[in-house]
Formats: sequence, structure tokens, C-alpha cells
Amino acid sequence: MRRRGVTPDAGVIRAGLEERRRTLEDQVRALSEHDPAESANLQFGKRIGDGTAYAIERMTGAYQARTLYQTITQIDTALDRLRDGTYGTCQGCGEAIPTERLEAVPWTTLCVGCASRPSTRR
Ligand SMILES: [Zn+2]
Repeated sequence: MRRRGVTPDAGVIRAGLEERRRTLEDQVRALSEHDPAESANLQFGKRIGDGTAYAIERMTGAYQARTLYQTITQIDTALDRLRDGTYGTCQGCGEAIPTERLEAVPWTTLCVGCASRPSTRR
């Protein structure tokens, strides 16, 4: 049974964050190694006219890589905060972030209220 308001074990959180970070790094690597135009020539040489689709795929890949990288940065911040003991405290209002939110988004630095606010006051 998990109780509300109890800080989850830091070691468990760290392991979860580091595992997630590795997964994301693998995904970024896969996206950057994957060259749609190259594989198009190798695998789909006969299908001329798919170039546009591959161009879109490539842009999507770049966008995905950027999004993934942002999450990696957030995970790094969460790991830092775990080290200095500020993990689980909202950077917006200084209140404890609910455990359910940390479980859903372990690298978050804001509570739901602050995250949904357009501008966050410190
Ligand atoms: Zn807050």
C-alpha cells in the first residue's frame, strides 16, 4: 500500500529515471542513425515518388529527437534535484508535488497547478 504524501524511495526513483534516460538516449540514437532517404534507396528503390513522405518522416524524426532530448534534460535536472534533496518540491510554489504526479511524470519540477498556469512565478 502506498500512502499519499510520503516521499518515495530516492533509490527507486533514481533507478527509474536512469532507466528511462537510457531508453530515450537509445531512441534519439536510433532517430539520428536512421536516414530515411538512404533506406529508401536500399529497400524501396522502385517506389519513386515516396520522396515527399520520407522528407516528412525525416522532419518528424528531427522533431521527435528534439522532444526526446528535452525530456533527457529534464531527467538530468530531476537527478540533480534528487541529489540535493529538492526532488518532489514544486519549483513554482514550493509545495510538495503529489506522489501520483511524480509517478506519472517522474522528472516534473512543477505541480499540476503551476504546470497548467501560463507563466510560473518563482
Ligand atoms: Zn506548484
